[in-house]
Amino acid sequence: MTALVDAGLLADVQKFGAADVSACFSCGNCTAICPLSDNDGTFPRRLIRYAQVGMKDALLGSKELWTCYHCGECSDTCPTQADPGGFMAAARRYAIASYDRTRLARTMYTSPLAGSVIAILLAAFFAVFMYASHGPQSTTSLQLFGFIPEALIHNTGVVVMILVFLAGLAGIVTMARGIARREEIALHDVIGGRAALARSGRALWSALAVESLGQRRFRADCETVQDARPWYRRRWFIHASTMWGFLGLLAATILDYGLAVIGVKATGTPVPLWYPVRLLGTLAGLFLIYGTTMLIIDRLQKANRAASDSKASDWTLLALLWVTGVSGFLIEIALYLPQPPAWGYWVFLFHVSVAMELVLLAPFMKFAHAVYRPVALFFYTLAGDRSAAGH
Ligand code: SF4
Ligand code: SF4
Repeated sequence: MTALVDAGLLADVQKFGAADVSACFSCGNCTAICPLSDNDGTFPRRLIRYAQVGMKDALLGSKELWTCYHCGECSDTCPTQADPGGFMAAARRYAIASYDRTRLARTMYTSPLAGSVIAILLAAFFAVFMYASHGPQSTTSLQLFGFIPEALIHNTGVVVMILVFLAGLAGIVTMARGIARREEIALHDVIGGRAALARSGRALWSALAVESLGQRRFRADCETVQDARPWYRRRWFIHASTMWGFLGLLAATILDYGLAVIGVKATGTPVPLWYPVRLLGTLAGLFLIYGTTMLIIDRLQKANRAASDSKASDWTLLALLWVTGVSGFLIEIALYLPQPPAWGYWVFLFHVSVAMELVLLAPFMKFAHAVYRPVALFFYTLAGDRSAAGH
């Protein structure tokens, strides 16, 4: 197989935030210190080399791109300030942008001004679009769907989800094809017979449950520099809180809608706090607010290597997540107040607009790694399992 060389690769990756890695002279310090470096003894400098010599497919197809959690230990030991950890983070941004055909991800990452304008205009668009169909504000009880019609929110949400699904699917297919080609994984290796299905099931469990939801590698391999911190201040827990919170809120929203479809409870019906779906939403909201607040504080304080390297798109994503979580919580408070506050309606409009924007922009920001990482880990676990079985 012939690999095309991209002479501008290193310069392109640098647009996504990498330091000047041309100073790297392959001393190997980063390899010696990296908790993820295995027997081949070349990571992470091998990926820097790929960028230096223009091996784009090799860089994009590297497992380590998705296993590195930017602990920064390699950067602390680099004698030439090449910042290999920062390079890995930039290469991940570059990979996400490479899988996006619309080039929106590239704009969000490489043009802070254009990215911020897009984010503001999109929120304004959703707010105006929703408000254009608004109804009256009841003063006897908080009738949120009387103010912004439920059908409008639902239909807009469906359109947004379809767009996100198509954008995400296109990126996943491009990524999966690249890795499968590199690792020589064919379709029959994934679903061809019982043995292949069993291997795929194990790989899926490892990628989704153990690595993504359980954060095994983050907890086990990438936290050595922060061992002195209590568990609730460690990077893995803050990262996991944000992810669990977001997924929990998504699940609560879908369940709430599902209950309405099967006729158990109409959406928006007042329920006690302990009602299972409400409880799930409340707990998930608390996790999301805690995770994003700590991420913001860590970035403001530059508490670790990853937090010291903030791009405009990182702030946009954090702001959207935090605002979505806090405004959702304010709505919940408003719903339980004895007198319905007028601000509840405006917070609701704000919350729906920002949440729609967050979901729509998810495939084009750092958030996308929540999907790309498990997909990559699935294929690499499958490849490792297959070679261990001697196929
Ligand atoms: S420690 Fe720095 S100079 Fe040495 S191989 Fe790693 S990136 Fe290159
Ligand atoms: S940031 Fe940490 S995990 Fe990533 S390459 Fe450097 S030492 Fe390894």
